[in-house]
Amino acid sequence: MKFDSKYFDKIRVKSRTERRVRPEVPQCEWPGCPRPGPHRAPKGRGQEGKFFNYCTEHVQQYNKSYNYFAGMKDTEVASFQKDAQTGHRPTWKLGQNSYANVSGVRRKAENMARDPFGLDGVGESRAGHHPSGRALRNTELKALQTLGLDENATPDSVKTQYKTLVKRLHPDANGGSRANEDTLKAVIQAYDHLRESGFV
Ligand SMILES: [Zn+2]
Repeated sequence: MKFDSKYFDKIRVKSRTERRVRPEVPQCEWPGCPRPGPHRAPKGRGQEGKFFNYCTEHVQQYNKSYNYFAGMKDTEVASFQKDAQTGHRPTWKLGQNSYANVSGVRRKAENMARDPFGLDGVGESRAGHHPSGRALRNTELKALQTLGLDENATPDSVKTQYKTLVKRLHPDANGGSRANEDTLKAVIQAYDHLRESGFV
């Protein structure tokens, strides 16, 4: 065994850093995480100057989830973050039906990831109207389908469905599992598209 390998160097550097850092830094504030939390993450609008202390992994997860809030109202973000502080126990359960729904959404999300601009559907004309009365674009229809909706969706139903899916697919709601990460990304991408196109 080579003790001068890069692998061992890495371990030595890491433990030295931790020894140096540990006495000064608070514990990571992610629920159930025992590691030191040397990274500060802003708590967000309305709580300027306040920070969470997180370890490297959880500050990354937090920063990522921060973007999930795009499009939500301040009060909704605040309540989401409050939940996260208290352990984030979801009030809903994944039952048989909702699992089927997630699978369907995942399948559509995979299609969306494969063909995000709806090029497969170019030339194909589907019924459907934007709430303003103009014809629904193919990319908008695809985005609606990614969210598990169809051409009859309204801006309100899109917002509601988006929030439901984000909560359901978020790692916090799945014991930290990131199994749904790709689906979640596709859902966010679809919602962003509908915002940019002026649908919602
Ligand atoms: Zn942590």
